[in-house]
Amino acid sequence: MIDFKILKKSKKSWARLGLLKTPHGVVETPALVPVATKAVIKTLTSEEVRATNTQLTISNTFHLHLKPGDKIVKKAGGINEFMKADWPTMTDSGGFQVFSLGFGQDMQVGKILKYFPGKTDVVVETGSKSKSVKITEEGVHFRSPFDGSKLFIGPKESIKFQENIGADIIYAFDECTPPLSTIDYAAKSLELTHRWAKICVDSKKTNQALYGIVQGSRYQPLREKASKYIDSLDVAGYGIGGDLGESRDSMDDILSWVIPNLQDGRPRHMLGIGYLEDMEIIIKRGIDTFDCTVPTHFARRGIAFTSKGKLDLKKTRFLTDKNPIDKSCLCNTCQVYKRNYISHLFRGDEITAMRLVTFHNLFYFNKVVADIRQKIKDGKI
Ligand SMILES: [Zn+2]
Repeated sequence: MIDFKILKKSKKSWARLGLLKTPHGVVETPALVPVATKAVIKTLTSEEVRATNTQLTISNTFHLHLKPGDKIVKKAGGINEFMKADWPTMTDSGGFQVFSLGFGQDMQVGKILKYFPGKTDVVVETGSKSKSVKITEEGVHFRSPFDGSKLFIGPKESIKFQENIGADIIYAFDECTPPLSTIDYAAKSLELTHRWAKICVDSKKTNQALYGIVQGSRYQPLREKASKYIDSLDVAGYGIGGDLGESRDSMDDILSWVIPNLQDGRPRHMLGIGYLEDMEIIIKRGIDTFDCTVPTHFARRGIAFTSKGKLDLKKTRFLTDKNPIDKSCLCNTCQVYKRNYISHLFRGDEITAMRLVTFHNLFYFNKVVADIRQKIKDGKI
């Protein structure tokens, strides 16, 4: 069960400040949701995650179902107890993995096309079949990426797995439409996603908060239809997923079609976005939470985010740089360590390098979002 309270609505945009109360604590929104795919923020302990001011994490149903098994997480007392998270948790439905194992893998494309230039010639039409995934009315047949064994997941299975994992917030099972779908394909996919959403609502037995997912690709009529339908269901909140078009402008347009059809009093989560540059745009459109792999994924590759832009700490020039990653950052990494040492650790493939930068990046992203909350409070956005 969750309770969402809006503290302030902006007069300049659709931004709002809120408090999202869950069984594991209260989240000040808007909030970043770091990605703990396998019930861990890679390289950090849960105490460290807490120290980055992270308020909420999202884990992956598909991965946890395969390893260690959702029943094992249940026996451990649920995901919060298992990973020692004393903060609210979410699990996604596994739908996105269906997409990434299927069309995503076939075409090597991601959610936003512009990050994958040169792939605009591929179009998914009605009747297109993915090589690795078979979608039926009941759910999705696919092969395990670990051992090739046959697997199946549908809306009922997704809810069952998520109930076993036991996060505070769970998601309806959807087909995440490939980015290059035609409107006909996207429309058929949307109908299936809606039938599945209803099954998810009807089959849930716990008091976890179930969010419905608004799909509809880049097409205005579909996004409007999707938001109205999901809003009509007995859901606790909304996830906004799928293809967001080719640019930040198209993402902004898509949100402008969706948000007005959603009830104010239910929280809105944007799935799988959150470059620093995206945050203010989506928050101004009324998004309350959003998950993003960028701070952690980039950190492990030596990229640190700072108030002056990105740094590639693997570069030779940082070996003699005695500054912290960011002089204005109050995180432990920046209080203690210098760029020269961190650069040396990266160049030597030392695990500690990833830990130090993951900690900084998460702390920094959380600070950026806290600053945006302050701007809403001050009436600036
Ligand atoms: Zn820092």
